[in-house]
Amino acid sequence: MVSRTIPVDTFDLILFGATGDLAARKILPSLYRRFLAGQMPEDARVIGAARSELDDEGFREIVRDALGEFVSPSKRDGDTIEKFLAQCSYIPIDAKEEAGWDALKERIRDDAIKAFYFSVGPSIFGPLAERLRSHGIAGPKCRLVVEKPFGTDLETARKLNDNLAESFDEAQIYRIDHFLGKETVQNLMAVRFANVLFEPLWNERYIDHVQITVSETVGVTGRGSYYDRSGAMRDMVQNHLMQLLCLTAMEPPNRYDADMLRDEKLKVIRALDPVSKEDVVRGQYKASGEQPSYVQDAENPDSRTESFVALKVGISNWRWKHVPFYLRTGKRMSRRLSEIVIQFKETSHSIFERDGLSKANSLTIRLQPDEGMDLSVTIKEPGPGGMRLVNVPLDMTFADALGPDGEEIPDAYERLIMDVIRGNQTLFMRGDEVEAAWAWTDPIIEEWEARGDRPASYSQGTSGPEEALALMHRDNRRWRDLEEE
Ligand code: NAP
Repeated sequence: MVSRTIPVDTFDLILFGATGDLAARKILPSLYRRFLAGQMPEDARVIGAARSELDDEGFREIVRDALGEFVSPSKRDGDTIEKFLAQCSYIPIDAKEEAGWDALKERIRDDAIKAFYFSVGPSIFGPLAERLRSHGIAGPKCRLVVEKPFGTDLETARKLNDNLAESFDEAQIYRIDHFLGKETVQNLMAVRFANVLFEPLWNERYIDHVQITVSETVGVTGRGSYYDRSGAMRDMVQNHLMQLLCLTAMEPPNRYDADMLRDEKLKVIRALDPVSKEDVVRGQYKASGEQPSYVQDAENPDSRTESFVALKVGISNWRWKHVPFYLRTGKRMSRRLSEIVIQFKETSHSIFERDGLSKANSLTIRLQPDEGMDLSVTIKEPGPGGMRLVNVPLDMTFADALGPDGEEIPDAYERLIMDVIRGNQTLFMRGDEVEAAWAWTDPIIEEWEARGDRPASYSQGTSGPEEALALMHRDNRRWRDLEEE
């Protein structure tokens, strides 16, 4: 693979929430890796901000620790780390107070791109945006990056959008969904729209159904009280799974352009059918040996929040009528996996009936682990003995197929942060898209809340509750086995 790292223009990235978990786990390591790759200019600066009373050295210690923990040893180079740290500084600021803002204004450069990264809880987005404006810091060269969750329902999302719109134009706002930064997600668009092979088949005539799975092996330990107010539907479906569904289902935009692409995704969300209660399964994991149950993790014995949800979703348009999209996501499942499976229909007639049936083709788009795609095709088993048919995958694991020896594919955050600096909003959610996603999600949640249903329980280390299997069995279909390669 030819590595093409094009340096970006110089920037000041002001990281609110610089002492937090996300900054340590993702943002600071991603900036360092871009620095190491030669993409971050030597005069670009990272200015941390949070309430903690730290000086520049104190913050650099935090950054050093974060790089020690979250950057792989092969990429930790002492000299490079020190050079990177020299570009990092810190200003104590409480988003809700007036102190510190003038110092920040003085520190940032007029002629550099300014990216304000809100890696803080959503209740702080409004106060931060307001103070950036009132202290004259938000100018036309400013960009704003906001983390999920973007609201908890349509009303709160609208309020957040309105708050941000008071100080920033939509063209300055970058709402992160890190799934969109994954190599595979962009490859899904490349496969669909840069090849003649797939697009003619990408419709209700040839596709039987689509499955989207995001399964995790972790539970909610440590963030149980936050999660308990959210649940799988709000935490995963409204954003990540919805984005994957949109990219799979959307029409080709006229150009690979941020607004054209987001227009097409929005059309998909608006074409989603309402979901009836028979088409939703919610689950909660049970205790298993030493492992606590969901309600123990959430410290809420009466919790009715779902740690798993599966849905059958219809899209009312010409391309997708009668093609169900099955979505599922859950915690404490048997495997950590994110994938989209396009299940094609059977051939209309088999000429090999005496020799074993051919299996319908499927295209699997893997986001993790091992980002890549595979296409299952039926071939003849090699050797004598007649036409024995077998199904084999044509595997394209990106790291194997394209990457230089052993090189890791850049983390989604690396790409997304550099896109912010370049002013490319293609892989970020637009305000109307987020609101439309909530407008579809809200009635589903309201319906089960009104019924007061308890989620079905499921054993840890499985693929979720039995009821989720039944959701597909009743349509004579089955989920792809999580353990299947
Ligand atoms: P966290 O560990 O609790 O960190 C929150 C940060 O905000 C800290 O740096 C905190 O520092 C700062 N802060 C809190 N109140 C503040 C105030 N009034 N003024 C200025 N700074 C303030 O949270 P996190 O896990 O990093 O998450 C940050 C955001 O990213 C949240 O919206 C979260 O939902 C989202 N997110 C996190 C992850 C993840 O893996 N952690 C993944 C996806 C999305 P001080 O206490 O020093 O002020």
